[in-house]
Amino acid sequence: MLPVVQEEVARPDLRSLGISELAALVERLGQRPYRARQLYGWLHRKGASSLEAMTDLPAAFRQRLAKETRLSTLAIDAVQESVDGTRKYRMRTQDGKFIESVYMPDQAGPESFDPEADEEEPLARVRRTLCVSTQVGCAMGCGFCMTATMGLVRNLTAGEIVDQVYRVNDDLRRLGIRGERPLTNLVYMGMGEPLHNYAQVMRSLELLLSEEGANFSHRHITVSTSGLVPNIVRFGEESQVKLAVSLNATTDEQRASLMPVDKKWNIADLLDAVRKFPSRQGRRVTFEYVMLRGVNDSDEDAGRLAALLRGMPVKVNLIPYNENPGLGFGDPGAERVATFRKALGARGITAMVRKNRGRDIAAACGQLAVQGESAAD
Ligand code: SAH
Ligand code: SF4
Repeated sequence: MLPVVQEEVARPDLRSLGISELAALVERLGQRPYRARQLYGWLHRKGASSLEAMTDLPAAFRQRLAKETRLSTLAIDAVQESVDGTRKYRMRTQDGKFIESVYMPDQAGPESFDPEADEEEPLARVRRTLCVSTQVGCAMGCGFCMTATMGLVRNLTAGEIVDQVYRVNDDLRRLGIRGERPLTNLVYMGMGEPLHNYAQVMRSLELLLSEEGANFSHRHITVSTSGLVPNIVRFGEESQVKLAVSLNATTDEQRASLMPVDKKWNIADLLDAVRKFPSRQGRRVTFEYVMLRGVNDSDEDAGRLAALLRGMPVKVNLIPYNENPGLGFGDPGAERVATFRKALGARGITAMVRKNRGRDIAAACGQLAVQGESAAD
């Protein structure tokens, strides 16, 4: 007999399958074609957590599915709520790994960090955003980032990426928010580097954007990258969702010391890829710039940043650093951030400052690393 783990690998994960693969599976199991759409609706529109929940599928079919496939549902292990309504979810995968997803209600407002800002849409629209993880840990090694301290444990599957959305939708409904899909916006800015898990991230987007599934609009999803240039180019060709790029520095010397990825693809390579990124109305690339005290927050940095971005139709989000004990970086403070922003503005670059969300629970996107794993075992 095969050990359990290998058996798990051999059985396809239902939630990671696209609609055509699901159709092929349903056919192989001798079921009528419409069952594939029905199953898909349970998996991705209703976000069912188990086969048992799929009450209008014949019991015999469900038994076959239970035997021949698996269903990667996450378990909400813990939730921390911030005074500002931000909720940080710790979720457990079926093989006992932990990841985090952060819910942020109503981000609207001119000063907010807002890669989703859509000029054509009224600001009054209720916005409920989830920041999702794409990997357990991260391989990129950025010196200021908590997730980096874990290293890369493993990639998440598409099923695990989308299930973060479904589990949080469930929880929000439980809290009284009505509707099949309380979440309106998604940002791929949690643990991990999305473009380092390219295939599964692309599959997750296909599932989340599908009309028969969660039916998100591509204008309401943003994928953030530390700058994997070849995959940025591919992503531009293969996806319609928005892109955010973590620039975080204005010289290669400075950037390479903060973000090892810069040694492979430097600032010039990165800006070149962004210049060529296919843009439509409302799909301007966002540059993220984490502000680190005494490192990249000077007026000279602002001048260099403006010069780098001159003429590019981009948005800039300044992110005051969320301090992590032990990493040795500091928040420049509101005044320095405001001065930096003004210096950019004087040079024709409009920047937004990200609102401090969930600071009391260390729940900023990009501040995630699962702590106390052993305590939870
Ligand atoms: N790996 C991707 C997405 C996850 S990190 C990326 O790097 O873009 C999301 C964002 O959070 C990045 O812009 C990153 O620079 C930022 N970030 C990481 N740690 C942070 C911290 N402690 N405070 C503020 N921003 C942080
Ligand atoms: Fe990975 Fe992004 Fe953190 Fe860098 S900032 S280590 S790429 S999660």
